[in-house]
Amino acid sequence: MKNGVKVAVIGAGASGMMAAITASEFGAEVTLYEKNDRVGKKILATGNGRCNFSNLALSVEQYYCDDKDKLDKLFQTFSALDAVSFFEKCGMMTKSKNGYLYPYSEQASAVLDILRMELVEKEVKLCSETEITDIIYSREKMAFQLKEPDGKKRCYDKVILACGSPASLKKGAGRTGYKLAESLGHRIRPIMPGLVQLISDAPFCKSLAGVRCQAGIRLLIDGEEHASEQGEVQFTDYGVSGIPIFQVSRLAGYALREGREVTILLDFFPEQGDRQAFEEFVRKRFINNQNRTLEEFLTGTLNRKINMVLIKQCGCKTNMTAAEAGYGKISEMMQKSRAFEIHINGINSVENAQICAGGVAFEELDAKLQSKLVPGLYVTGELVDVDGKCGGYNLQWAWTSGYIAGKSAAEDGKTVKE
Ligand SMILES: Cc1cc2nc3c(=O)[nH]c(=O)nc-3n(C[C@H](O)[C@H](O)[C@H](O)COP(=O)(O)OP(=O)(O)OC[C@H]3O[C@@H](n4cnc5c(N)ncnc54)[C@H](O)[C@@H]3O)c2cc1C
Repeated sequence: MKNGVKVAVIGAGASGMMAAITASEFGAEVTLYEKNDRVGKKILATGNGRCNFSNLALSVEQYYCDDKDKLDKLFQTFSALDAVSFFEKCGMMTKSKNGYLYPYSEQASAVLDILRMELVEKEVKLCSETEITDIIYSREKMAFQLKEPDGKKRCYDKVILACGSPASLKKGAGRTGYKLAESLGHRIRPIMPGLVQLISDAPFCKSLAGVRCQAGIRLLIDGEEHASEQGEVQFTDYGVSGIPIFQVSRLAGYALREGREVTILLDFFPEQGDRQAFEEFVRKRFINNQNRTLEEFLTGTLNRKINMVLIKQCGCKTNMTAAEAGYGKISEMMQKSRAFEIHINGINSVENAQICAGGVAFEELDAKLQSKLVPGLYVTGELVDVDGKCGGYNLQWAWTSGYIAGKSAAEDGKTVKE
């Protein structure tokens, strides 16, 4: 049963589709605008094409935002298990890998197809290739007028802004959501690429390019530890990449913007115990391999390219024997492998990032994600200044915010008087 409330959703990404499906389910007449020819393009790229759509370890600790209590209440309303139920109800089987949630087929296209089918079944009117660039709000009528590209104006009771961020898009693209929110009086927190590679001018980056290894990482800002992670690190010719690097990139980006010193320390032997146990391991290796050259001494430990850099950093030659280098140098070299220092000069651009930090100030939205400035306006997904770590948390935010905004827009509605 439709309730006569007219809702426009701007942006058919993860959060916009969830908002449109939910608003329709709760009785609204929903029009979904998408500037691309197809909906949900970004979803196809998620989780390396497998779509890590949520995580059973969902908690506000996995997010950056300025009001964690409000965020927690939102997740209590629509949790990771609610996302699983939603998708299973729509016909998509799911699977958990250590709590990381995927479609059972491990195909991101399955998530998108399920959402597209739901849009049709819920009778959402889809206007693709339709970019909304102007929203006029009438306080008197408590209604919105949207200008479509052909010049036609349409009226709605409620508008849900779900325009996402410029992350991973072409240069200059993906910023209209901020402009629309700003035109309606909202403050936009400066955006910052998040979950992105770090750039270093260290000369060894070029020689290590292509190397992948397990490492513990520590992020130092002005010499003080601010975060630590563990996982696969990848060297590139311009710096470092990989999930643990992505996880700390946001902190690194903001610190660099403030002109602070950023350093990454890599532990290439994260499983090798504390300093004393490691020292013992090094001593034994030294005693048993004194006649080997340094290159041979390190063979069978780390990637050869890393070994070469370690030898060079200690001012030694690859063809000198361990005995010639002496235990002191060997110990220094091996300790360097536990705290391999990379000076960070920058973070990669927004076009290479998975998400953007910053956006519409969270404090300007109420507990239903309705604007405190413009009643009837809702903001969802990455457009809001809420961002999560790698692991399904950003899509979960898209589902949670889309669901809550869609439900509220449909339930608290009134009909436009034209
Ligand atoms: C490579 C990559 C991998 C990722 N992997 C994961 C993962 O595995 N797990 C995870 O949780 N997150 C992942 N993310 C992040 C996640 O994809 C995003 O956080 C999420 O898709 C954001 O959803 P959204 O609806 O807010 O925005 P988007 O998905 O960006 O959707 C916004 C939509 O609005 C449209 N639009 C914008 N402006 C207008 C306008 N004015 N008029 C009409 N339409 C408009 C856009 O074309 C777009 O379709 C990944 C991101 C990338 C780039």
